[in-house]
Amino acid sequence: MTLADDLKFPGDKIGSIEEYVPGRNTYDDGESIRATVIGSSKLDNSEKTANIITQTKISVPEIGDTVIGTVEAVLGSMIVVSMNFINQRRVHNNVECICQTRHLRKKYSALVQDVVIVKIIARQNGTIHGTIDDDDLGVLSTKCRKCFGIVGMMRDAVKCKECGWIDDRKLSSNFGKMDIIPSEKR
Ligand SMILES: [Zn+2]
Repeated sequence: MTLADDLKFPGDKIGSIEEYVPGRNTYDDGESIRATVIGSSKLDNSEKTANIITQTKISVPEIGDTVIGTVEAVLGSMIVVSMNFINQRRVHNNVECICQTRHLRKKYSALVQDVVIVKIIARQNGTIHGTIDDDDLGVLSTKCRKCFGIVGMMRDAVKCKECGWIDDRKLSSNFGKMDIIPSEKR
């Protein structure tokens, strides 16, 4: 069992009051024992307490960290990226960052579901800002916008190997080198 797979959020049920009493970082809502913080649940069967252990570090990136993630949304002037890896470490944090793309002057910097590599540049008001501007940043994996076929790099654009459609993306210099994406197992 990995701790991340067992992550509980505030309000999540971690035990029943018939079996347990609230321990650390938990409360009793009259029916269930629920978490007050983010962490992993620990049911202590000798003391009959239900606890949330918080040393599971919630992985929120620091400025300068490198994130590999999946594009969740493409808005007019930015992309929203959900984080899969921070500095090569798998994370399950449900945290997103946004990258401004307007200045890149590409019609399609990235598409939804593209895998991108991002550098974190700022954290403001709870929003994490990243950039895909540098050469090594940007799209690592994408598909054809017309037919979802496999594409190859053509200068700073991509060309579909199925239908021949040429499209722009903000490509990383590591585009197509999927071995820079760590294995899920780590
Ligand atoms: Zn195509």
